[in-house]
Amino acid sequence: MKLDEALDLIAEVPDFPEPGVLFRDLSPLFADGPAFAAVADALADTLDPAADLVAGVEARGFLLAAAVGYSRGMGVVLVRKPGKLPSVAGRVDYSLEYGTASVELPADVVKPGQRIAVMDDVLATGGTVAATAKLLEDAGATVTGVSVVLELAALSGRSTLDGRSVHALRTV
Ligand code: AMP
Repeated sequence: MKLDEALDLIAEVPDFPEPGVLFRDLSPLFADGPAFAAVADALADTLDPAADLVAGVEARGFLLAAAVGYSRGMGVVLVRKPGKLPSVAGRVDYSLEYGTASVELPADVVKPGQRIAVMDDVLATGGTVAATAKLLEDAGATVTGVSVVLELAALSGRSTLDGRSVHALRTV
């Protein structure tokens, strides 16, 4: 399947999770085998050849990182929401439009000097991915780049990522 056809499967849901937000739902894309494969292949093509590991942000980022990691024979780092991990290497708190959120890294997974590519489904304000990059860097890793399926340009997520290499399969 062509990548554009796959990306056209992303649904737009107005006013979710709150009024005024146009939620981009990748569920139909994930549920379509050829579409999921096309997206996973395209994300894998964005990887810096120097990357040793792929990090996925809970929860949709897990699916993308797992597919890319499997196809490239690379391990996957699960960047989790708080309270899920029995043993935590680090935590970064960050601001959302309303309130705060946090990401946590499991203990004894990332080694200093590793080069890690970050994957998520949607780049909105960039807060989640920026916090993820800081979490990995605090553990001594280098972030080789950030790859997302969809970038929401109006929310300027790239500007929060301090010139990091950002790859979006589609920017709207
Ligand atoms: P961000 O504002 O970039 O930190 O986005 C926060 C998280 O929420 C990301 O992991 C995105 O997957 C998700 N997200 C933010 N805005 C949307 C949206 N409009 N549609 C779907 N997911 C979103």
